[in-house]
Amino acid sequence: MDLELTAADEEFRREARDWLAAHVPAEPLPSLETAEGFAAHRAWERELHGGRWSAVTWPEEYGGRGASVLQWLLFEEEYHAARAPGRVSQNGVSLLAPTLFEHGTDEQVARVLPPMARGETVWAQAWSEPGAGSDLAALRSAAVRADGGWLLRGHKTWSSRAAFADRAFGLFRSHPGGDRPHHGLTYLMFDLAAPGVTVRPIGRLDGKPAFAELFLEDVFVPDADVIGEPGQGWRVAMSTAGNERGLTLRSPGRFTAAADRLAALWRAGADPADTALRDRVADALIGARAYQLSAYAGVARLTEGGTPGAAASLTKIFWSELDIALHETALDLLGPHGELADAAPEAPDHGGWADGWIFALAGPVYAGTNEIQRDIIAERLLGLPKGRR
Ligand SMILES: Cc1cc2nc3c(=O)[nH]c(=O)nc-3n(C[C@H](O)[C@H](O)[C@H](O)COP(=O)(O)OP(=O)(O)OC[C@H]3O[C@@H](n4cnc5c(N)ncnc54)[C@H](O)[C@@H]3O)c2cc1C
Repeated sequence: MDLELTAADEEFRREARDWLAAHVPAEPLPSLETAEGFAAHRAWERELHGGRWSAVTWPEEYGGRGASVLQWLLFEEEYHAARAPGRVSQNGVSLLAPTLFEHGTDEQVARVLPPMARGETVWAQAWSEPGAGSDLAALRSAAVRADGGWLLRGHKTWSSRAAFADRAFGLFRSHPGGDRPHHGLTYLMFDLAAPGVTVRPIGRLDGKPAFAELFLEDVFVPDADVIGEPGQGWRVAMSTAGNERGLTLRSPGRFTAAADRLAALWRAGADPADTALRDRVADALIGARAYQLSAYAGVARLTEGGTPGAAASLTKIFWSELDIALHETALDLLGPHGELADAAPEAPDHGGWADGWIFALAGPVYAGTNEIQRDIIAERLLGLPKGRR
């Protein structure tokens, strides 16, 4: 693998850095998990789109700039180093868009992507159900055939940002009675404001209300909003999941920027005699750098025609465990003040380390728990016998 960047890549990086330096808000936006913060982040998406930075790898006709995946990595490094706001449009840009490019129709791509790039349509992921999390194929929410479309019935839960989002994508049982649970599912898009949808926010550990469960009572979805073939939803979902666990959800730029800030914290105020803490800072730096290098290797494989596939499970365990260790080290370094949250006037770094730690705790759970990722690695990468379910 050649790690030298071309002149065009260097120019791309410089352009991103200059644009971000001129546009990133001086003060952090309010949390996107609140109504006020959600609106502020939506406005930020519009601004990003104005600079054609909201979906850099998409073709220009949909609002992107046709950048390579490698350039996307460079953009992300600059984005996080500039401390730019979290992306409220992440479910759409990182999960639904790649799924549509792979399985959607030309009409769906042309209709769905431009408003997504402009931040006008923010998407929620409606996969999990009360009885179907790790065992996603156990899902019971149904899509029942109707004239010109489908009627959705059921109960989805743990839907990030759904309290304020506009639309959702999810899996539904459309052809019951098959011999395997992951057969007979259909992948659909629907409006969260449609008749029959009730969105009930779920309070989070930090009290912020954007998480939600969804109750669906005969929600009509036209055929035009089915992604892929009816009954073949599992195949479509697996392409979304590969993206979610792999590169796009947690780009290495986020971890290299956080590890650099951790090292700066250490230099600014740590006790040099505390070699145990120093070693943890060094481990975080090395882990972030290792993840960055493995991402570059992953991009080289993708460029040569590979797919994220089961190897994405390795990545998922790595970034989620790194994130917790990195934030715990920062909180130990900061002492009691580090635990103050964003509203507290004396919170170091606007409470970013405490907020980041709380969010990091969820990393081994969302996007498929790490126990499940370990099963996938054992069975599909190492070829070990299937575990007992
Ligand atoms: C912050 C956050 C955001 C989320 N956002 C979304 C979202 O936007 N959309 C969405 O659809 N979902 C979302 N989820 C839900 C998430 O995908 C599920 O929580 C996850 O898949 C686990 O499912 P569960 O919670 O039902 O736990 P369960 O599946 O009940 O698992 C409970 C425990 O048992 C273990 N376990 C279960 N089966 C096995 C097995 N076969 N072998 C070994 N261990 C096993 C699990 O690993 C886990 O530790 C989110 C979750 C979190 C925490």
